[in-house]
Amino acid sequence: MHNVVIIGSGPAGLTAAIYAARANLAPLLLEGWQSGGQLTTTTEVENYPGFAKGIMGPELMKDMRAQAERFGTEFLTGDVSAVNFATRPFSITIDGDRTVQSKTVIIATGASAIPIGVPNETRLTGHGVSTCATCDGFFFRGKPLVVVGGGDSAMEEATFLTKFATNVSIVHRRDKLRASKIMQDRAMNNEKISFVWNSIVEDILGADVVTGVRLRNVVTGKIIDMPCAGVFVAIGHRPNTALFSGQLDLDGKGYIRTHNGTATSVPGIFAAGDVQDSTYRQAVTAAGSGCMAAIDAERFLEASGQG
Ligand code: NAP
Repeated sequence: MHNVVIIGSGPAGLTAAIYAARANLAPLLLEGWQSGGQLTTTTEVENYPGFAKGIMGPELMKDMRAQAERFGTEFLTGDVSAVNFATRPFSITIDGDRTVQSKTVIIATGASAIPIGVPNETRLTGHGVSTCATCDGFFFRGKPLVVVGGGDSAMEEATFLTKFATNVSIVHRRDKLRASKIMQDRAMNNEKISFVWNSIVEDILGADVVTGVRLRNVVTGKIIDMPCAGVFVAIGHRPNTALFSGQLDLDGKGYIRTHNGTATSVPGIFAAGDVQDSTYRQAVTAAGSGCMAAIDAERFLEASGQG
């Protein structure tokens, strides 16, 4: 029987582990087969406080994990296949064959950027393909960029990227944007932004780094290659909450609803990081909410006489 089981090994989960371990709660952290979260798919992280010279995403996650381990976090590798939050203690099944029980659970399973799904996208991720302008925009100073999508995220990313890029082309599959009027206006009034309507990305070009995109006009069928140094994919994020549907309150987009800090609809279950945050989605905000979740779990155990 565990005091705290943490599901997820990104900044939220590992920060929760550091705090829970230092509170003598001997946390068990369940890390998936691809541990470390979204930061392991980025290159240099320059906006995480404390690293004046920047740090590579995978290295930051390795250090966070070592820090959690140093204070006694136990790690178990495997994908959570089922949870039961209806009865206490809560139970969590890993890879369909092993079940652990816990008095509290911190969910930090994150969110995944929806990929376009073209052949070279994965290979060039971190080498010109990105899903986070705030993280990677700086690397494209003086270069032409492409943003894919027609929603608020695409407008926001494109507008942000004009601080660095020579020009930003927004590629959208229709001739009307989904974005809110104010975000549309902001993008349309920006002289560095242009729109490529009715077009989808057929592939991303480049041997080692991105050199362009192959676009297909869905109305005319015409294919063109457009040179660019970076492709920012902004077609939405999906919170990793399929496992919790029906057991926890989720909002209309599938994010876990939290209140009073990191509490969910089930007392004793807490949620931290991108799985409950569709707004900020930064490593440092995820880490901050992981810290909050550990403190909330500790207080819950104390208040319920289990601490
Ligand atoms: P979104 O509103 O779902 O928009 C996704 C966009 O990507 C749509 O234009 C969609 O095209 C396009 N798209 C989806 N799948 C595609 C595919 N396979 N290939 C090409 N294009 C594809 O997602 P979002 O922009 O990330 O926004 C999510 C939520 O966060 C929204 O509620 C938004 O208002 C909010 N948000 C707010 C702000 C802000 O206010 N500052 C900033 C960012 C996000 P279609 O239009 O044809 O469907």
